[in-house]
Amino acid sequence: MPKRSILHHYQDPVDLIWLRAAADLGLEVQRSTDAYAAYDGKGTLTISVQDEFDPDDSLAQMIYHEICHWLVSGIQARNHPDWGLSNTSRRDLVYEYACHRLQAALAAPFGLRDFMAVTTTWRPYWDAIPDDPLKDGDDPAIAIAQAGFQLAQTSPFHGVLTRSLAATAAIADIIRDHAPPASLWSVTRARHRLGSLMAKSEQTTCGTCAWAIAGATGLRCRQHKPAGKSAPVVQAEEQACERWERTLTSEDCGTCGACCRQGFDLVPVSPRDPFAKLHPELVQLRDGEQFVPRPDGICVALDGDGTANAPYRCRHYDTRPKNCRDFEVAGDACLLARRRVGLSR
Ligand code: SF4
Ligand code: SF4
Repeated sequence: MPKRSILHHYQDPVDLIWLRAAADLGLEVQRSTDAYAAYDGKGTLTISVQDEFDPDDSLAQMIYHEICHWLVSGIQARNHPDWGLSNTSRRDLVYEYACHRLQAALAAPFGLRDFMAVTTTWRPYWDAIPDDPLKDGDDPAIAIAQAGFQLAQTSPFHGVLTRSLAATAAIADIIRDHAPPASLWSVTRARHRLGSLMAKSEQTTCGTCAWAIAGATGLRCRQHKPAGKSAPVVQAEEQACERWERTLTSEDCGTCGACCRQGFDLVPVSPRDPFAKLHPELVQLRDGEQFVPRPDGICVALDGDGTANAPYRCRHYDTRPKNCRDFEVAGDACLLARRRVGLSR
């Protein structure tokens, strides 16, 4: 039998993407059983060989994890072995947790949060990270992760991470439907053509979304409106994205009240508004302007607490100021107010 010469060898495409990411950040990756994952402080990452991996490990995720370690440890960490962290004690555990949060925050918009999940022994922390991994809170890892996220927005990290996550997501889009449930590829999420992840239910459509507004040129999505440009057109029957919210009606106001509380600072009242004469005790004057104030963020005319027994309701609804009468349920300002109080995304 003639001996054939082998000129090329197979490589996992996602591993190639992340090997290139490492190289673009000035990191060389070497494979060795000497360590599961280690960094020498001089630009070389050592990552174990495939045979030593757990079934849910991938070289791609491990490189990504190390890049996130660099980001949360600060730019100078490149010059320190293991990013300056102790891996023999719990001294720097908060940096491991910050790394988890950053890893989740950067991967989520690409539908890769579960695919790029941490596989270390600290996995229970990862599993408990909330939807928004960077939301302010008591956990000291949050501020460190937020700083890492800021560093990730700078060059060269931003370009490298965006390109690598987008390329990984593009492969996921092709493979997902071929992957059995036990495959990591099956936990990737598809993205809507406007950029957000797809809604989990295929039955939900843009036509039933609070962010869709009908105009002369069809239905447009206000959630994905780029600054200074028109809101993009969506089709009523198109599958919704994860930003979908049920269409709002005045029935929702009792549990919302956003526009009457922290959604806005105050209600301006014009000199001709009958409200000023009907309820002078509720109107204040500052710098020549009249307004209804909101001590502690709540309008002085608002009753209720948003519960079923005490829905929000204006005490003077029938004679409310013109600004309140002109306010549209499901209008742009309504959605803004709801977003400000955390009822909308
Ligand atoms: S926010 Fe609503 S209208 Fe916009 S794409 Fe998502 S589901 Fe469609
Ligand atoms: S913000 Fe919108 S839904 Fe909420 S109370 Fe005001 S009008 Fe109603």
